[in-house]
Amino acid sequence: MEKETVLNVGFDDTDSPKGMCTTFLAYKIVNLLQKQKTEFLDFPRLIRFNPNIPWKTRGNGAVSFKIKTKDPSKTKNQIKNLVLKYSDVINGANPGLVFFENDYIPSEFASFSNLALWQLINRSNAKKFAKKNNLEIFYQGNGQGLIGAIGAIGYSFHDHTLELLSYRKKSKFGKARKLSTKSVKIMQEKTFPYTFNSFDSKKGRILITPHGPDPVFYGVRGENIDSLIRATKILKSDEKLDGYMIFKSNQGTADHLKNELNLENMKPYASGRITGIVSNSPKIVKGGHVFFKILSKNHEFWCAVYKPTGISTDASNLITGDEICVGGGVRKASKNFPRIINLEFLDIINLKKNIVQSNPLCKKCNKRMKSKGYNQGFECIRCGNKYSEKVTIEIPRKIKKQLYLPKVSAHRHLTRPLQRIGTVNKATKFDKSLPWFCVYEN
Ligand code: ATP
Repeated sequence: MEKETVLNVGFDDTDSPKGMCTTFLAYKIVNLLQKQKTEFLDFPRLIRFNPNIPWKTRGNGAVSFKIKTKDPSKTKNQIKNLVLKYSDVINGANPGLVFFENDYIPSEFASFSNLALWQLINRSNAKKFAKKNNLEIFYQGNGQGLIGAIGAIGYSFHDHTLELLSYRKKSKFGKARKLSTKSVKIMQEKTFPYTFNSFDSKKGRILITPHGPDPVFYGVRGENIDSLIRATKILKSDEKLDGYMIFKSNQGTADHLKNELNLENMKPYASGRITGIVSNSPKIVKGGHVFFKILSKNHEFWCAVYKPTGISTDASNLITGDEICVGGGVRKASKNFPRIINLEFLDIINLKKNIVQSNPLCKKCNKRMKSKGYNQGFECIRCGNKYSEKVTIEIPRKIKKQLYLPKVSAHRHLTRPLQRIGTVNKATKFDKSLPWFCVYEN
């Protein structure tokens, strides 16, 4: 029998804001390989990396897959040609394509991938990594795409979600997407909690359709294949689609916020979390954005909570001494502000009692007394009752000991939605008979 090679393929940075999409390229590659009866050993993987890097097109996603092939050089050439054909280099894409022939992925790959989730990786480090680990690489432009391409192969799942991405026919690229709003609402209700972030019920807005010119019609995210397929049957549209593909992903896992930020690793564009004590009174600036400081391991860090997150009012109700854990991305210092963490979650661990000194209450009239002047005591203006000193009172807190997440329309791809808190999905086993890929016959 002819020997078969296990081939891992990773690629990234094939698209630009003007068009195309790395997942669509994956769909095209898989289509070709499926026609040749290539054996897939797992779902295609859609891995989201550090969402705070400045040069991402949209959601910093990269794709990889693992196949068995009898003719690795032919397969690699075919993939390379498709990457060349579908990459939008003219409009600024810097595609990276990586081949790694091995069934086992060494732990160094997972370490590289883990770092790409929350820190900034230098392009030359990706090239060095490829050389050291015998990766076959191919790139255009500056080769930035190699980072995501290596990371997508190296990523090791602890929890996962799935996304069913459906693609449009070429004649529809760039045209408005018409999908029944009601059907998305019903789909979300019927498939909850096995799908997530499809519909913003507060605003009545569809969340599964992109707005740009890319080939994606919609993407439904969830926990298992059955729920995703069921969801597509509930969704209603007159548009004839080209097909769909289901990716295994780290979306919805909050993977980028699991590392503790500190003075050394809190570099611009890093993502992570800090646990500490609120160390000043939050300031609300024009536009409703809120800024406060957190003290952690003897250092103070500025935090920003922007109005569109929907949790700025909650943040404004923090007081000095509250114990919290915050997660987000580090914004580089500006003229007016030092390095600052843009919050993606606020978890209140302990609320300090809000004790303040206040004028005494008249026991007879139940009214606050008036001060008679410095050191001259207090008097009730109604009945003349007197009292000599201020009293301490506890003001009820307006926030609770709980996790505050941005509203669903402000979620990032990696944000762990409330319904997934405490969920670890390890269940999806790959089996080639599963309906994970489909090109419609019409
Ligand atoms: P889309 O979501 O539409 O696929 P995108 O938002 O993923 O687009 P890309 O065009 O892929 O955007 O750009 C992201 C670039 O950043 C890629 O070149 C990727 O290799 C690189 N990259 C990813 N993670 C890091 C990181 N941690 N440090 C440095 N570069 C990174």
